[in-house]
Amino acid sequence: MALRLLYRRYTLPFRAPVRTAHGVWAERTGLIVRLEDGAGRVGYGEVAPIPWFGTETVEEAEAALSVLGEWVKPEQLAAVPVKLGCLRFALAGAFGELGQDERLVKDNPSPPYLAVAALLPAGRAALAQIGPKAELGFRTFKWKVGVGDIADELSLLDDVIGELPSGSKLRLDANGAWDRRQAGRWLERAAERPIEFIEQPCFAEASQGAAQCARMEDALRGLAGDFPTPIALDESLVGAHDVERWLAADWPGIFVIKPALLGDPAPVLARLAAAKADVVFSSALETAVGAQAALQLAFAWAGKPRALGFGVWPLFTDSVFDGPFGAPFIRAEDVARLNPEAVWTALN
Ligand code: MG
Repeated sequence: MALRLLYRRYTLPFRAPVRTAHGVWAERTGLIVRLEDGAGRVGYGEVAPIPWFGTETVEEAEAALSVLGEWVKPEQLAAVPVKLGCLRFALAGAFGELGQDERLVKDNPSPPYLAVAALLPAGRAALAQIGPKAELGFRTFKWKVGVGDIADELSLLDDVIGELPSGSKLRLDANGAWDRRQAGRWLERAAERPIEFIEQPCFAEASQGAAQCARMEDALRGLAGDFPTPIALDESLVGAHDVERWLAADWPGIFVIKPALLGDPAPVLARLAAAKADVVFSSALETAVGAQAALQLAFAWAGKPRALGFGVWPLFTDSVFDGPFGAPFIRAEDVARLNPEAVWTALN
């Protein structure tokens, strides 16, 4: 059975530039893929790479799509190389929507809604944002740390906690900014405070060499053993291979999962579920197409529900590309209502 495979490349400016460890990110480039079967059923998927995270580039994914050509067999989709994880995610999602992927039939009931974490800016600017977000109903807050001077940020921690409504949780995301000693100072401070977890306290990129990567991974394991506050891996998990590696090493902390980077997500999520892993589902700053696929996986997750890392919208200058936004909860029906076809048409 041949499927018709079409794709469209997009470049979409963000409403506000996104600050990353690799500089300022002003627009998102990716691909929307469209599969149609002989019965006229259509499925969409999104390739949303983050190359500085270690994924393929859009060009690499596009080159692989042009090699696949317009008429493909399901076996060819499954044979796309593992290193093209974002493309594999898009194709698996589009194929799943044709109703032919039996692995996605769920036996657990989905929750009607999931909580979303509110994003707080780095530094003192966080303080003014907590009240309004608490008023909207947010109870999980994520504060960017590791941006300014460590002593200044540490001294702000209690002010930030003081602004939180009672019963709230605070997650800290360091994006790998600290060395082991600095991370130890934060974890010591976090121990008796309502800190849900500290995300990626330390990290070395592949370009820093294998020895430095191994040192940072040792540091993460050591810190997880030395302090009570859980540690979450984000930058450490680029694709299915990294998830498998940390699962095999019995990582005791949390896995921040950006489904868009996972390749074919079904086997990896099954492995995480079998290991009873503690998972946070998180955005890769994708459009509504990738967001729908990623959020469906989050709703199907049977483990402990933690607030979603999907508090990113409104994200694009043209809101037709956005996922559900503004609310402290995402409802399953909001996810079902996202319209991949509208994104496809808008790119024409
Ligand atoms: Mg993170």
